[in-house]
Amino acid sequence: MPPKPLLILDIDETIIHSKQAPLARQCDLRVGIFHVYVRPHAELFLTTVSEHYDLAVWSSATRGYLAAIVKFLMATQKTQPLFVWDRSKCTRRVDYVEQDHFFLKDLKKVRRQGFDLDRVLILEDEPRKVQKHYGNAVYVEPFEGDLDDDELLKLAYYLQSICDVPNFRNLEKRYWRSRL
Ligand SMILES: [Mg+2]
Repeated sequence: MPPKPLLILDIDETIIHSKQAPLARQCDLRVGIFHVYVRPHAELFLTTVSEHYDLAVWSSATRGYLAAIVKFLMATQKTQPLFVWDRSKCTRRVDYVEQDHFFLKDLKKVRRQGFDLDRVLILEDEPRKVQKHYGNAVYVEPFEGDLDDDELLKLAYYLQSICDVPNFRNLEKRYWRSRL
């Protein structure tokens, strides 16, 4: 069996929505002052994609917050992420257009762990965070708490359909929804 490709998950606005101010319904989890809402179909998504990919997590959130959320999300999963990286693995950058700063996820750090970037995908709702490696990115619509959201169902289907592609970076992925 050839090794599985690596799928790096973003957390906030990709798998969950989390805010200090609660939505009009009960949250799924409280982490400190945050109300956390899990994106619909997250459990099925994780189970399905983990059959085809090794999973990892890379979030620009802080360590304790991230650990609590990953523990909650993975509690029902047979396989666990190969690594869980937090903000300390990100590179702080200034965005002169938006006049703010953001946390870049530089996949060089993943390559240094021995992963072949041809076979690495990273899910991200904020394209600038993966701007150095857009060829590895699959962009996700940000999740703000909508209970009718079916992004993760579509994404699971799409990710299954491409898991055998030898080099993900040669694959046009920006219009992935049109391939469904
Ligand atoms: Mg995000």
